[in-house]
Amino acid sequence: MVRAWAVIAAAGSSTRMGPGRDKQLSLLLGRPVLVRTLQTFLQHPAIAGCVVVVSPGKLAHYQELVSEWQLDQQAGRLVLAAGGSSRAASVQKGLAALPGDCTHVLVHDGARPLVELSDISRVLEAAVEHGAAVLAVPVKDTVKQVNGDLIQSTPPRDRLWLAQTPQAFAVDVLRRAYAVSEEALQRATDDASLVEGLGLAVKLVPGSYRNIKITTPDDLQIAGALLQQGEMNIMRVGTGYDVHRLVPERPLVLGGVAVPWPMGLLGHSDADVLLHAIMDALLGAAALGDIGRHFPDTDEKYRGISSLLLLKEVGRLVDAAGYRVGNVDAVIVAQAPRLAPYVEYMRENVAVALGIERGAVSIKATTTEKLGFTGREEGVAAQAVVLLSSV
Ligand code: MG
Repeated sequence: MVRAWAVIAAAGSSTRMGPGRDKQLSLLLGRPVLVRTLQTFLQHPAIAGCVVVVSPGKLAHYQELVSEWQLDQQAGRLVLAAGGSSRAASVQKGLAALPGDCTHVLVHDGARPLVELSDISRVLEAAVEHGAAVLAVPVKDTVKQVNGDLIQSTPPRDRLWLAQTPQAFAVDVLRRAYAVSEEALQRATDDASLVEGLGLAVKLVPGSYRNIKITTPDDLQIAGALLQQGEMNIMRVGTGYDVHRLVPERPLVLGGVAVPWPMGLLGHSDADVLLHAIMDALLGAAALGDIGRHFPDTDEKYRGISSLLLLKEVGRLVDAAGYRVGNVDAVIVAQAPRLAPYVEYMRENVAVALGIERGAVSIKATTTEKLGFTGREEGVAAQAVVLLSSV
C-alpha cells in the first residue's frame, strides 16, 4: 500500500527577497506563500501528511503560523522540523522525521505555492511506478555554457528541461541517495541528482510553467497575477427546489413579502418557499450541503424565523467559501394569487440580503394550468438556479 508524505523545504535564507524578508511568509493575495503550498498538499487525498522543515530559529514563529491558519486541524498530519545549514541537510532532517509506515516521499519547495493537485498526483503516480520522478518543463530559451563572459558551447535545446518540485521517490531510494559524502550533498542542487548519482533512472513528468519558485519580489507579483487569472475562471452553478403546503391561517410569505391571501404556507420557519429554493441553489453551487443541514427544523431558534435572515447567513457562508454571487434566477409555481405586483419587492429583498445588484436577481411566477398539486392550490413550489464565481 502506498503511503505518501511530503517534505516541504522552507528553511532557506530568502536572501534575494531583500533585507529582513522571509519569502515563505510573504503574502500572496492575502495568504502567506507557505500557507498556500501547505493547503494544497494537505488537501490532496493521497498525501498522508507533511513534514515542514524550517529554520531552527523560527520554529516557534512557524508554529504560530500553523495554528493561525488552522493547518493542524487533522491531528498528526503536519509536523514541523528544524532544518540544517544547507537545503540537503534540511531535507535529510525532514526524511528523519517521516513516520515508519511512509512508503513514498515528495520533496517540495515551500516557495512554490502554485503547485496544483494534479501536479502532485502525476509525479506521485510516476514515482510509485518507477521509484523516482521529477516534474519538469522544457527550456524555452537557448542555453549557453560560459567561461567568464565568453560562450563556450550551446547545448541542443531539445534535450534540456528545467527541474521543478515536487520530486517524488520511494522512501528507501531517497534515503540511500542521501547516504553520500557531505561534499556530494553540498554540490547537489536538487534531490533527483542524488538519485541519479546512484545510477537509478528518474522519470521525467511534464509540469507547468505556472509552478514558479518565489525567489525575488518580482516573482511574488507574477505569482499573484497567475493566481488571479486562474481563480477568475472558476464558475460554479447550483440548483434548488422546494415545496410547501398551503393551509388556512398562515401568512403567505414569498421572497420576504407578506402577500395578502386567505391561505399561507406551512413550515417550521416562515415557510418562504422561494427563498428556500434560492438558499439551496446557493449552498449547492458552493457544495456546502442544504438548508436542512444548516438550519434544522428541529431547532427551536428557527421557529417562525424570517427566511430573509437565513438567506443573509447563507450569503455569508458562500462568501466565506470564497465565492461571490453572479446571478440568481428563480421561478415560483403557484396557481394563485397573482404575484406580478410583488415581484419587484421580492427582487429587492433578495438583492439586499445577498449584497448584490437587483439586476442580478430574476424572479418569475407561473401557474401549472390547474394541473397537479400546485394547480389544485394544495401547495406552492419554487425553483432556483444561481451562478457563483470565485473572488
Ligand atoms: Mg422549505
